[in-house]
Amino acid sequence: MSEESWAKVQTSLKKNLSKPSYETWIRPTEFSEFKNGELTLLAPNSFSSAWLKNNYCQTIQETAEKVFGMPVKVNVKVKDFEENKDKNLFSVAPSAPTSSGSTSTLTESVKLAKKAIPLLNLRYVFNRFVVGPNSRMAHAAAMAVAESPGREFNPLFICGGVGLGKTHLMQAIGHYRLEIDPGAKVSYVSTETFTNDLILAIRQDRMQSFRDRYRAADLILVDDIQFIEGKEYTQEEFFHTFNALHDAGSQIVIASDRPPSQIPRLQERLISRFSMGLIADVQTPDLETRMAILQKKAEQERVGLPRDLIQFIAGRFTSNIRELEGALTRAIAFASITGLPMTVDSIAPMLDPNGQGVTVSPKQVMDKVSEIFEVTLEEMRSASRRRPVSQARQVGMYLMRQSTNLSLPRIGDEFGGKDHTTVMYAIEQVEKKLSSDPQMASQVQKIRDLLQIDSRSKH
Ligand code: ADP
Ligand code: MG
Repeated sequence: MSEESWAKVQTSLKKNLSKPSYETWIRPTEFSEFKNGELTLLAPNSFSSAWLKNNYCQTIQETAEKVFGMPVKVNVKVKDFEENKDKNLFSVAPSAPTSSGSTSTLTESVKLAKKAIPLLNLRYVFNRFVVGPNSRMAHAAAMAVAESPGREFNPLFICGGVGLGKTHLMQAIGHYRLEIDPGAKVSYVSTETFTNDLILAIRQDRMQSFRDRYRAADLILVDDIQFIEGKEYTQEEFFHTFNALHDAGSQIVIASDRPPSQIPRLQERLISRFSMGLIADVQTPDLETRMAILQKKAEQERVGLPRDLIQFIAGRFTSNIRELEGALTRAIAFASITGLPMTVDSIAPMLDPNGQGVTVSPKQVMDKVSEIFEVTLEEMRSASRRRPVSQARQVGMYLMRQSTNLSLPRIGDEFGGKDHTTVMYAIEQVEKKLSSDPQMASQVQKIRDLLQIDSRSKH
């Protein structure tokens, strides 16, 4: 089996895929090796690699099986992974080919530290984390903990909503600690895994080895502790694990979607343990931070993104960084498949959560805002700084951003030629006020209802 066999697979795929799909994903993918029934391919970058894995693995596998006449397992790795590794914080051992490819590569040091621990994701390092006002404190605490573990912030408890970077920050601590001390025993575990391991250990009568394993860490990262709610026995065991580690001077980092005191059915003694170090929260990022995150991700994927498209995506996906990234990924994929340019006009309809393009016109937004805030259209378009007027104007800009596909400058135009930075500022102000000003929140909701904008998918 050789490169030529891969060429045959490619030829066969070419017949069954659309031309853009073939040209974008299959043609640039190179053969690496075929060993023990495993076909390893090299994608040009991490984005293609992820795309191939998610969308084409099965097709490639089936085609390869026909060509090779035997069962085949397909691995996809990133081509210049070797070359890229210097950019990571620490050196990376060449990956053993596995079905999930390069992302499942263990660092040598992680391997040494503990064979059984789940992987640290190579992308979750500090230099890929964009620090904004929303995450400054958690980021600083995370750095401090990696630099001097087991000192003042023990445990470090990171909390915040879904998709806001808790897992990323927590794993970054692990990576950085290993960079400083390659011999450190770093362990990352989800609360679910901890629970499952515990159940298994009890069932197989292996409690001692369970304890030895969990208590050997110098740095333990426990993710999504909220899932411990109501699990009495797991809480009990975790309490002892926590104490053993803490007493031994090991650093404990815990992540949760809410502060300890708000996790239902959590034993009082755990609440007090979790609160004895530092509780640092991550909040939703503001518009500027969201734009910086997109910018950084685009650079990593080596795609050029026009600024107004960045603004557009950042304006649409406001409350979850995972969704924000997802939108960018879809935009890149969409543009490469369709061959359309990366512009707001071509990408916007695709990003509409309902997939139906624009559903609300700017005029409808203006009319409803004017009605609910009792401010005239002329006033909204004027330069008046009267509070009710500027408030209505800001809400109008915010809702227009969410419900139409206008770019920031064009929204500015709708409001009598305001600058796009004014629009950006307005959106940010409204986002802030929505959580602190119930009256405004209810007015905005009323307008959403009238316009039939679904706030769950648009916000
Ligand atoms: P959580 O654990 O809070 O649900 P994750 O850590 O899994 O969230 O983050 C979701 C995604 O967003 C990940 O791909 C992560 O890399 C990315 N992300 C989150 N915060 C940031 C940030 N500040 N800078 C860059 N990427 C981020
Ligand atoms: Mg997480």
